[in-house]
Amino acid sequence: MLFPYTYIKHRVETYQEFVRFLVHEVWANADGPFSAELLMNGQDDSLYKFYLDNDHKTSGRAYEFNLCIEQIYKYCEELRKAGSPILNRFVAGYDINNNIARLCADKTLQPLTYDELKGLHADLGHALQRFCSSLYGGGSPFNTVHFDEFDRKHTADHYRQFMIVNNKRLCPFCGIHRIKGQFDGPRDAYDHYFPKSVYPFNSINFHNLVPMCDECNESYKKTREPIFSKKTDRANSRCKAYYPFDLALTMPKFSVSVGHKDYETLTHNDVELTVEKDGCHEEVDSWLRLFNLDHRYRLLLTEESFGKDWIEDIFEAQLHDERILIDGELCGENLTGLQYCEKEIRLSRRNAWAQQKFLKGPLLQAYRDIGLFNALT
Ligand SMILES: [Zn+2]
Repeated sequence: MLFPYTYIKHRVETYQEFVRFLVHEVWANADGPFSAELLMNGQDDSLYKFYLDNDHKTSGRAYEFNLCIEQIYKYCEELRKAGSPILNRFVAGYDINNNIARLCADKTLQPLTYDELKGLHADLGHALQRFCSSLYGGGSPFNTVHFDEFDRKHTADHYRQFMIVNNKRLCPFCGIHRIKGQFDGPRDAYDHYFPKSVYPFNSINFHNLVPMCDECNESYKKTREPIFSKKTDRANSRCKAYYPFDLALTMPKFSVSVGHKDYETLTHNDVELTVEKDGCHEEVDSWLRLFNLDHRYRLLLTEESFGKDWIEDIFEAQLHDERILIDGELCGENLTGLQYCEKEIRLSRRNAWAQQKFLKGPLLQAYRDIGLFNALT
């Protein structure tokens, strides 16, 4: 990543508590027939009241939500009675899948997937997937008045508060596109960093929900997994990944080489891009893979509105005397093309995440090193 997000504490986090309560207090301790009273969480009767108010329904999301709670309870009770280790894995899976920072950093940790759970207990796996997949978004049972409208009120407010603290207005995953802020009206989507179609229990955990630009979210990331480089070979492809809220995260070093000096005909196939960060090799590889960045950045480096324009700025500066008249006197230095290039390279190191300067500086260096600007001196 180019820079980390700062995590914020917010009321919206409390919705995860409903899921934790169901797993650890209701399902893990399933004993005897299910009753609505089991859904009382101390003083919080939201789940209990929601269950009772929708108990008569025979279809719809609320019916599905209640039915899944009961079904999962029944399967867990059977597993507990039988002393099955599947119940332990189910409960431990909740804790593992919600420790996003550790999942990213510790390769020995194996998250629970729906596929694994279905392999252990098909009915339980399917019921849990139906339950968890309904929790996030506008259609969530948590978005009703029983739960004080999770998405409409609290997610919307979280986005505004989050964007006040995280104010670069740039997608930290690509550095190409803008992220909508608190004054925009509409908001950008939260991506499930660990995809909600693969992993149970963490679809409303805000350590796993990260705003990103539409292009990163919808065209590239999709359901790609940060900690497995090959979906089809999970046993041999576990890797480390960036945790988006790791404040120790710093920008990797970008290097560019170009195949020839003719920048007007240069294509992305003529460009090589190297991205390195000491001690973060796997994190960088995971990030590049998730967002197809090697390809996207090599395209950008050769396009009219980006890489080609950066080069033409240097030629333009050489062609014109850029000194300015102040009180009848010419002021400022009239730089050569090579000198202007050096100045731009130096300026690209300041706030390198802005205006794709992390790519502009290395591209200018690459052309400088093969002598593109020598003729201009
Ligand atoms: Zn992006």
